[in-house]
Amino acid sequence: MGMRGFFYKLTYSHRHRRAHLYNFGCNFRCKGCFYRISPPRPGRRLSLDEIEGALVSLRERGAVRLHLLGGEPTINPQLRDVIDMAKSLGYRVVLITNGSNRVPEGIDRISVSIKAVSNDIHRAYTGRDVGPVLANVRDAYERGIDVHASTVLIPGLVDVAEVERIASFLAELDELIPFYIIGFMPPPGSPWRKPTDEELEAAARAARRYLKYVATSNPTPESIRHKSEVILA
Ligand code: SF4
Repeated sequence: MGMRGFFYKLTYSHRHRRAHLYNFGCNFRCKGCFYRISPPRPGRRLSLDEIEGALVSLRERGAVRLHLLGGEPTINPQLRDVIDMAKSLGYRVVLITNGSNRVPEGIDRISVSIKAVSNDIHRAYTGRDVGPVLANVRDAYERGIDVHASTVLIPGLVDVAEVERIASFLAELDELIPFYIIGFMPPPGSPWRKPTDEELEAAARAARRYLKYVATSNPTPESIRHKSEVILA
């Protein structure tokens, strides 16, 4: 995947009144990336005009939120225009990010996936240093952006102790930051396995020593398939 992303798909969840705009491309190379199981297959590059047209008509159908996800949306050169467009249409804009770049102005909420806080683990997992990630999360929080965080529990790589350190980092900012611990889904050939429900619960207990709102899920590739309506692709 290249370092400059592009938008390739827009979907809509009527139930959640939420549009999802997908970026192709990421600046990390995570060992636990879901796209190693189910790689995105972008058909084409969406233009700003067609994204705007779709956001206008979805607003008329009741959409209230736009989720920007990927890949890593902050590497996309069209991101600034899309945020401005969505804000002017009255959307609440949520960025799903790996924290590698500063959160752009206009974002109401981030959902940041923090792979690790120990630099050796973060480097082994993503190929990149963790310092900028932690600085960008702190910066977003201090700018008043609503911060939600998640991590992936990977037995033997990101263990309970590391999840606890992530929770501790977040609690230094605010113990009310919602934290979501997701069980690893091993891609083919992965040296790491899926955690048991008990291991996930142990991680949640450790995180709850620091944070008030901790939730878990132990998904399977089937359970997370999107059932949203495809608007543009
Ligand atoms: S940051 Fe997310 S999309 Fe990028 S490689 Fe890691 S898991 Fe995959």
